[in-house]
Amino acid sequence: MPLMIYNTFTRKKEPFEPLTPGVVRMYTCGLTVYDYAHIGHARTYSNWDVIKRYLQYKGYEVIHVQNFTDVGHLTDDADQGEDKIIKRARERKVHPMELADYYIEEYLRVMDALKIKRPNIMPRATGHVPEMIELVNKLIKKGFAYETSRGIYFDVQKFPTYGKMSGLKLEELKSDQRLEHDPEKHHPADFALWIKADKSHIMQWPSPWGWGYPGWHIECSAMSMKYLGETLDIHGGGMDHIALHHPNERAQSEAATGKQFVRYWMHSAFLTIDKEKMSKSTGKFITAQEVIDRYGAEITRFYLISAHYRTTMDFSEQAMEQAREGYLRLIGTMEAVESYLQANNGPLNADLEPSEEAKKYQQQFEEAMDDDFNTPRALAVLHQFSSFLNSKIKKKEENLEQLRADYQLFLTLADVLAINPQPNDKIDPYVKLLLNIRQEARKNKNWELADSIRDELQQMGIKVEDHPWGTIYLLTKI
Ligand code: AMP
Ligand code: ZN
Repeated sequence: MPLMIYNTFTRKKEPFEPLTPGVVRMYTCGLTVYDYAHIGHARTYSNWDVIKRYLQYKGYEVIHVQNFTDVGHLTDDADQGEDKIIKRARERKVHPMELADYYIEEYLRVMDALKIKRPNIMPRATGHVPEMIELVNKLIKKGFAYETSRGIYFDVQKFPTYGKMSGLKLEELKSDQRLEHDPEKHHPADFALWIKADKSHIMQWPSPWGWGYPGWHIECSAMSMKYLGETLDIHGGGMDHIALHHPNERAQSEAATGKQFVRYWMHSAFLTIDKEKMSKSTGKFITAQEVIDRYGAEITRFYLISAHYRTTMDFSEQAMEQAREGYLRLIGTMEAVESYLQANNGPLNADLEPSEEAKKYQQQFEEAMDDDFNTPRALAVLHQFSSFLNSKIKKKEENLEQLRADYQLFLTLADVLAINPQPNDKIDPYVKLLLNIRQEARKNKNWELADSIRDELQQMGIKVEDHPWGTIYLLTKI
């Protein structure tokens, strides 16, 4: 069965075929950097990460671009309100670029902790204003955009399939109260490509239409096409982008190039708290770092991919506890197999083919992931695979070469879902020494010392957990 991807644009699962065989050009909408990444953002970016890992597992070269929005995203997502970054920077009494730098660093630190592979290119909108101006110029020349006293607008009536992605007809959009009814606009759904600025506006650039700044939507079109070409294979974003941001990106890109902009539009569902969307602008959110501090990065990450990317997840302690259990079960198997192989002088590597049974799990795993990246089903297969390995140990498996080969396959599949704890690799020698002293203390039943070292380590961002099968160390911060 080929890999099937649900395409929001056609509302169907379609076999995946990139434009260039073997290469996937993927663009995902990045963070607007005026606050910490919340756990909902972490979910969306974990989803893209698993999708990317699976494409790589299948042998594709993936070129992934994800922007940082550091200008032009207004407080109401459409064309009204104030620039989110400028507003927050003023409240904090810092320059908008200082604010953006800070949150970009924070974002990267947290995403690294969650083992979200960095995109190949991470362009910032403020670094691509000339490309945006060029694109706007092209749209004016082709008759798709017009100038008003406020800026340059895209003329949605000139683009007949504008409403195809959102499922809304232009007549329906006419009465949409959320859209701005500016008398100078040809249609309420026309959106700003460029906004003229007065002298007091802190971030502005010269353009053929005077000083101003780009609209949020044109940024993604300019940055994605600059690095990935005029047709992208995959474009991802949260479900909130189906109504406005992505229809606008599509309209302006296709109007400018005359080519299909995106082959597969993918949208990740929300993570909610108390069934409400987590949102930076309403202040109702939990930062990704807060969850990591509490549960550790590994368990947080495991939780985030435990639901299918198109299913809404409601954040709860109970769900996190379930994730902890599931995660510990899988790494318990890893520890058990490692210890068994070590204790019996098994090989560190095996060139053998995995056993037929192990290959059966691989096939089921692939079937799950080929079905629009069904991570909960893939996880269930990993659990079965894990039970299979455990039963081999219980039966005191003698073919250690085969056990190692099967286990290697298990690790490869687990890595697709970013389940790959490698605590010792990242721990510095000083911490290692502390961990050894703690082990000694536990052996000597010096619980007081062992507990105080555990607390110290916790403060350093290293969570220590003792289990019947051994002690594990989880890095909660990096
Ligand atoms: P923003 O910086 O808010 O524009 O969001 C960056 C990305 O995260 C976009 O793709 C959003 O759709 C997505 N996103 C925002 N809030 C959530 C949420 N609560 N759950 C999942 N994804 C979200
Ligand atoms: Zn975007």
